[in-house]
Amino acid sequence: MVPLVDTHVHLDSNRFDEDRQELLDRAGSVGVRQLVTIGTNVHTSRAALVLGREREGIWSTVGLHPHEARTGSEETYRTFRELARESSVVGVGEQGLDFYYDNSPREEQRDSFRAQLRLAIELDLPAVIHVRDAYEDAWDIIVEEWLDDAGRPNGPGGVFHCFAADVDFAQRCVEAGFMLGIGGVVTFSNAQKLHRVVEDIGLEHLVLETDAPYLTPDPHRGKRNEPAYIPHIAERVADLKGITVKRVAEQTTANARRLFQLPDSELLPAD
Ligand SMILES: [Zn+2]
Ligand SMILES: [Zn+2]
Repeated sequence: MVPLVDTHVHLDSNRFDEDRQELLDRAGSVGVRQLVTIGTNVHTSRAALVLGREREGIWSTVGLHPHEARTGSEETYRTFRELARESSVVGVGEQGLDFYYDNSPREEQRDSFRAQLRLAIELDLPAVIHVRDAYEDAWDIIVEEWLDDAGRPNGPGGVFHCFAADVDFAQRCVEAGFMLGIGGVVTFSNAQKLHRVVEDIGLEHLVLETDAPYLTPDPHRGKRNEPAYIPHIAERVADLKGITVKRVAEQTTANARRLFQLPDSELLPAD
């Protein structure tokens, strides 16, 4: 079985409290060898880090979701800096802008995004970026905080998780060194814009993610999502590109390991 990596999951979610270990076993049994569980505030970042201590193959991030940007303070980022000393912390985010829900005032979202991009550069960790209905606004901040005059990243890499913009924006992202996170939406028949992106952008720029418990792929849509569904996403990407699932798994796993600097020795047991 070819190893897979789930690069974006919320493993601390209380929707996994009943069966978290079985869920990890199921992920292992379909080939998921490593996963990155994502922080969305101080509390969930700490919870993610604790999960990372409990079982091999689990890595974590520290971050403040744009929905929660209003709660960000110097203290928040100081705490992230401390938590990130632990070697199982491999990224900063999810951070970014979400102007679809506008759960936090836009100016506070911008400030929080800037602060976390700076933190990622300071810690030399990749940025895990969440953007919804705010791609151009996010790009303006990235140009100022993340790129040098030649448009290249000054520091570590990053990923636009749950990528949902068009091919032109995708091109801009990969030229600036970002990976694109492809999740369950790619399995939906009406996601033509994302299908175009997957067809046109080179496999060396894509990583796979579930964003579980959210965004469940077909054929499980309507149920809770979980990392064991990553193969459905890999299969759809393979379909769209006209290549084998094995090739998708190999390349996206290599991409994920390079992005988050994951050693390939630490693996979830197969079953
Ligand atoms: Zn997100
Ligand atoms: Zn997420």
